[in-house]
Amino acid sequence: MSTASERVCKSCGESAENKNLDRCSVCVSWFCPDCAHRAYGGRKFCSPECARTYYFHGDDDDDDKDLGTEE
Ligand SMILES: [Zn+2]
Ligand SMILES: [Zn+2]
Repeated sequence: MSTASERVCKSCGESAENKNLDRCSVCVSWFCPDCAHRAYGGRKFCSPECARTYYFHGDDDDDDKDLGTEE
């Protein structure tokens, strides 16, 4: 029904008509400069999670015992 090609910021919903949207290279979502997360080297992502995913991509994941260890 809706147009899939409509560009809006993933975080605040601002449209590309009002802001200069960028596209996250990790999750391919659009985001505006106000919501952008600036990572090392000036690279921008839609969120800190995506920045981490980008820089840890392909790393070994031999250690996920840390999840959910609460007293
Ligand atoms: Zn935004
Ligand atoms: Zn992203």
